Amino acid sequence: MTKWVYTFGNGAAEGRALDHEMLGGKGANLAEMCSLGLPVPPGLTITADACSAYYRDGRRIADEVRAQVLSGIASIEAVTGRRFGAGNSPLLLSVRSGARVSMPGMMDTVLNLGLNDETVQALGHDAGDARFAWDSYRRFIQMYADVVMGLDNEVFEEILEDEKARHGYEYDTEMTASEWQHVVHLYKAVLEEELGEEFPQDPQVQLWGAVGAVFSSWMSARAVTYRHLHNIPESWGTAINIQAMVFGNLGNSSATGVAFTRNPSTGEKSLYGEFLVNAQGEDVVAGIRTPQSITEEARISSGSDRPSMEKLMPEAFKEFVAICDRLEAHYLDMQDIEFTIERGTLWMLQTRSGKRSTRAAMKIAVDMVDEKMITEEQAVLRIEPSSLDQLLHPTIDPRVAREVIGTGLPASPGAASGEIVFTAEEAVMAEEEGRKVILLRVETSPEDIHGMHAAEGILTTRGGMTSHAAVVARGMGIPCVVGAGTMRIDLRNERLIGMGVTLKKGDIITIDGSAGQVLKGEVPMVQPALSGDFGRIMEWADRVRRMTVRTNADTPADARAARSFGAEGIGLCRTEHMFFEGERIHVMREMILAEDEAGRRTALDRLLPMQREDFESLFNVMHGLPVTIRLLDPPLHEFLPKTDEEIADVAAAMNMDATALRQRVDALHEFNPMLGHRGCRLAISYPEIVEMQARAIFEAAVQAARETGAAVVPEIMVPLVGLRSELDYVKERIDAIARDVMTEADMRIDYLVGTMIELPRAALRAHIIAEAAEFFSFGTNDLTQTTFGISRDDASAFIPTYQRKGIIEHDPFISLDFDGVGELIRIATERGRRTRADMKLGICGEHGGDPASIHFCEGIGLDYVSCSPFRVPIARLAAAQAAIKAR
Ligand code: PEP
Ligand code: MG
Repeated sequence: MTKWVYTFGNGAAEGRALDHEMLGGKGANLAEMCSLGLPVPPGLTITADACSAYYRDGRRIADEVRAQVLSGIASIEAVTGRRFGAGNSPLLLSVRSGARVSMPGMMDTVLNLGLNDETVQALGHDAGDARFAWDSYRRFIQMYADVVMGLDNEVFEEILEDEKARHGYEYDTEMTASEWQHVVHLYKAVLEEELGEEFPQDPQVQLWGAVGAVFSSWMSARAVTYRHLHNIPESWGTAINIQAMVFGNLGNSSATGVAFTRNPSTGEKSLYGEFLVNAQGEDVVAGIRTPQSITEEARISSGSDRPSMEKLMPEAFKEFVAICDRLEAHYLDMQDIEFTIERGTLWMLQTRSGKRSTRAAMKIAVDMVDEKMITEEQAVLRIEPSSLDQLLHPTIDPRVAREVIGTGLPASPGAASGEIVFTAEEAVMAEEEGRKVILLRVETSPEDIHGMHAAEGILTTRGGMTSHAAVVARGMGIPCVVGAGTMRIDLRNERLIGMGVTLKKGDIITIDGSAGQVLKGEVPMVQPALSGDFGRIMEWADRVRRMTVRTNADTPADARAARSFGAEGIGLCRTEHMFFEGERIHVMREMILAEDEAGRRTALDRLLPMQREDFESLFNVMHGLPVTIRLLDPPLHEFLPKTDEEIADVAAAMNMDATALRQRVDALHEFNPMLGHRGCRLAISYPEIVEMQARAIFEAAVQAARETGAAVVPEIMVPLVGLRSELDYVKERIDAIARDVMTEADMRIDYLVGTMIELPRAALRAHIIAEAAEFFSFGTNDLTQTTFGISRDDASAFIPTYQRKGIIEHDPFISLDFDGVGELIRIATERGRRTRADMKLGICGEHGGDPASIHFCEGIGLDYVSCSPFRVPIARLAAAQAAIKAR
C-alpha cells in the first residue's frame, strides 16, 4: 500500500526535513520542528504524489488517500483530546498547501474547518468566548466559500462593512458575539442566494471539499504563471498540511506573527518581524491592521509607540527567541518563521530558509563563517552568482512605484535615466554638453558605438540577448533593454510610442536593464557599494576555483574595469570596434572602397599606427596577463553608410561621387551577412588586412615588453574557421609577419595562433584543426546560431513564444544548449585534446558569463571562461561553485 499521509505531533514525526520533495517544504519542516520537540500543533501531510494521483484520476481523491487522512485525523484527536466536528471540545483544522519550493500566495488555504451551527456553540463554551467562536465561524464561511465554492470574497466584505457602519465601528474587533452571529446568518443567506446551495454543515464534506480545492489550486491560472516564471515543473504537484487549529484571535493574550531570524534586507543579526494581537494569520497578510514590532529594539528604531511583543508578552517572547536560535543552529541558515500565540502559549506554524537581498546574503554567509556555523565553501555556495548584478550597478530604489511604459529583454543590468535621443550623434553631442541621455535605436550597429559610449543607457525595439546592442552594452557595463517590441520608434517625428504614452526627443525615461523595463521619467536609484563581505566571499571563491576567468574587452577602459573586478586576462578583444573612433572610420572606409590591393595597402598603412597604439595600451593595462586578439570579423559593409542621407554625407567627406559610393555599398550587400563574407573569409580575400593587424600586434608586443618589462604572449585568434586549410592560409601570413618583426626588432616574441570554434564543422573536425591551432576559444554566440540555424539577431521575434509554449525552456543564446551546442563543444574538446593534449581551451561567447553554462564548462574541463567586465565577479563565483560541486 502506498503511504500517502505522514503524521506529526507530540514530539514525533513520520517525515523529516529531507523529505521535502514528497512532503513539500512546509510539511517537511513541520515534521522536523516536531522531531526537535518544538511546539507544533499536531497534524498530517498528504504527499505531493497524492496531488499527481488526484489529477491522474480526473480530479478525484482516491479512497486509499481518504482512509489514511481519516486515520491521521484520529491521531490528531488523540493528541489534542478533541473531536473533529463533534462533542464538547470540537477539533478545528487548517488545510494549507505546501509545494516543494515556496510559491508564496499562489495556492489556497482554508482555516477553521469543522465549524458548523452546532460546533460553533461548543467552541464558544469550550473557549469561554462566544464572540471568538462566531468570529471564527464567519471567517471560515468566507474562506471556504471563496476557495472551495468559488464565491468572490467581495460580497462578504460588503456585508461586513455595512454591519460595522450600522454599529458605528471602525475595527472588526469591536463586533460583539451576537453581531458576529448575525453576520454568519447574512453570509449563509447570500451564499444560498448566489450559488443556490447551502453552506455544508457536515465536517467530512467540508474536509474533502477543502482538500480537493487545495489540490486544484496547483493548476490555478496564477500558480501556472508563477511556475512558468520560475521554471517549476508542473509534475511536482503540491502537498497538503492538515493541522489542529491554534488561535491567535482568542483575546488579548493571543497573537500571530511572522519573523526572520536575521534582517532579510541588510543581513544584520537581529530578529526582524511583526505580529498582531488578537488576530489570525490572514489578518497579517491582508494588512487590515498595522502590525507591531517583535523586539523593543525594532520598535524604537521604527519610532512606533505601539508596544512590542517583547514588552507585551515577555514569556512567549523569550521562548520564541530561544526557538529562533535553535532553528538557525539546526538549519544553519537564516529562517523565515510563522507563529501563533494562543492565550500565552507559543505555537510554531512554519519555518523555511528566508529569502534575502544579495547584500544580506553576503553578510549572513560571512557572519555565519565567523560564527563557525558554516565553512567558507558553504558560504561560497550560498550566494547566487547572477544576483551579484544587484551589487555592481546602480539599481532602482526598491521602495519607489514603477510606471512601466514598455518591456523588453534585460540585456545589460543596472538602471539609468536620461533624455531620449534617437541617433548616436545626438548622444555624443549631449554628452559633450553634460546632458545624460538614453540612446533609442530600432537596433544598433557598430557605427553607433560612439553614441552608445556617450549614453547612460540603451534601448532598442528589436534584437535579442546577443544582438549588437546587448553584447556591446554588457561589455561597456551600460544598462540596456533590447527587443522592446511593445514600443515603437517613430524616427521621422522623433517620437517613442509606448504603452499609453508618446514621448518626444528630450523627454526623460528610465530603463531597468536588470528587469527589461522602460519607465516614465526619472526614478530614484541606489548606488552600488562593494562591501567587505563581498571581498571575503570572492577571496574564498578564488581559492577553490579551477578555471581562470578572463574578460571580453576591446578598450583599455574595459580592460581596466575588468581587472578591477578580478579578470585574469583578455579572452576576446573584438578588433572591429577599434575602427569606428574619430579619424579611423574614414580610413577604414577608404580601405574598403579602394579599387585594388595597392589602394587598400595605402589605407592600411595609415591604420597600422593607430591599431598598434590600441594593442600597446591593452598590453600595458594587462601587464603580462594573457591577451587574446581576434582578427577582423564582421562583414565589411557594416563599416559603410546605409541610408541615402548617410551616403551623401560620407561621399562629401571623402571627396567621392555619391552614386559611385552607392554602387560600391550595393555591391557589398549580402543576403545573409552573418553567414557571408566575414571572419577568416575576409582574411583570405584580403590578406593585407591580416598582415596589418598581425604587424600591429607584434610591434605592440615588442614595445610593451620594452616598456613594462613584462613579456606579453599575444594570442592571435582567427574567427569563423570551418576548414583547416583556412586556418593554414591565415596562420602562414601571421607567422611571416612575426618573423619580419622579430628580425626588425631583434627580439624574440612568443605568440600563439589559435581559432574560434563557432561553426559545427570546426567542432567536428577539431582534431584536424588542432594540428594547426594552438588554442581553441568557443564562440558560442555563432556556434548557437549555426547549430540551431537561428539568426542571433532575429531570434527575439519568436524565442519568447517558444518559451511560453514550452517548446524550449531557456533562450539558447543566454544559457548554453547543453544537449546540442554543448555536445559539439564536448566533441571539439575531446578531439582537439586528442591531437594536442596541452591545448588551452576557453569560451568567449555570451555564455561565458552565464552561471549554468559555466558549470557545463567546468564539467568538460575547459581552462577558462571569458565574459564582459561586469560579469567577471559572477563568473568567478560560478566557476568556484562548479569546482566545489564537481568534487
Ligand atoms: C561568438 O560568436 O560567440 C563570439 C564571441 O563572437 P561574436 O559575438 O563577436 O560573433
Ligand atoms: Mg562569433
